[in-house]
Amino acid sequence: MKYAVVTKEDEASIQMGYLVKKKINLEYDEENPDIVIAIGGDGTTLRTMHKYEKIVDKIIIFSIHTGHLGFFSSYEVDELALMMHQIHTKEYKYDEYHLLNYKITTEGGHVKEGLALNEVTIINPTRTLLLDVHIDGEYFELFRGTGLCLSTPSGSTGYNKSLQGSVLSTKLNAFQMTEIASINSNLYHTLAAPFVLSSDEKVELVSAHNKEVWITVDSMYVSYNDFKSLEITISDKTVKLAHQGVPHLERIKKNFIETK
Ligand code: NAP
Repeated sequence: MKYAVVTKEDEASIQMGYLVKKKINLEYDEENPDIVIAIGGDGTTLRTMHKYEKIVDKIIIFSIHTGHLGFFSSYEVDELALMMHQIHTKEYKYDEYHLLNYKITTEGGHVKEGLALNEVTIINPTRTLLLDVHIDGEYFELFRGTGLCLSTPSGSTGYNKSLQGSVLSTKLNAFQMTEIASINSNLYHTLAAPFVLSSDEKVELVSAHNKEVWITVDSMYVSYNDFKSLEITISDKTVKLAHQGVPHLERIKKNFIETK
């Protein structure tokens, strides 16, 4: 079994990375690991998924949180020995998280495709964005506003929640479209509510006016001045995250409900 390590850029996470490399008795392989140890927080797990996006279905990510309990990071700093034992004996458990497939097409015919663990958003922060929304090839609505956010169940506790989207159980194979500052008046109407879609549905957003957009994928973004369309579906691929038995429900309670 080969491993790699991805750390957050803070001192505690970097030091933890050195410790893991010192203690683990496995071959280090940055390019083709079987397991990846992500040290930091949820942001580090997102970065890890993207670093290994091409082989995401072949790896298992073990996340150690050096900050507060997150949604993706499971192991505490003082559980390093336990994590090592589970890796060596292969006695670990993991959850599989659904991913989104995105396909961006420009007027010039350039196509960019990839995966998202939390969400894909399309925004124009300076001008009203007009997008024709199609679901499974059927025209649905003309969206006017700042943008739209399409999130996975695990991403529903991220940006989506700040947009008043629903928190979805990670057991659901579904995705959600949430509006970012839509314009609703006597003249213009959108659904004006979060829309949960099933795993076999496809959302296509087509430029209806402005070609200038920003598209974010988890913590990354790309800006376009010749945007044509964005397609979103649930991917067949999942990411495997080893866990220490803290269920998603408990994470929701610890992160959002219980007071410190
Ligand atoms: P960041 O802006 O440095 O941090 C975003 C915060 O969101 C961090 O505290 C991170 O947790 C947390 N987070 C990440 N994924 C989450 C999830 N699935 N559920 C609940 N919280 C989550 O950026 P980042 O660390 O690279 O994370 C990128 C994510 O930030 C995006 O995917 C998006 O979901 C979120 N975001 C939210 C808003 C908003 O709410 N207004 C705006 C932009 C982006 P850790 O501290 O454990 O890393």
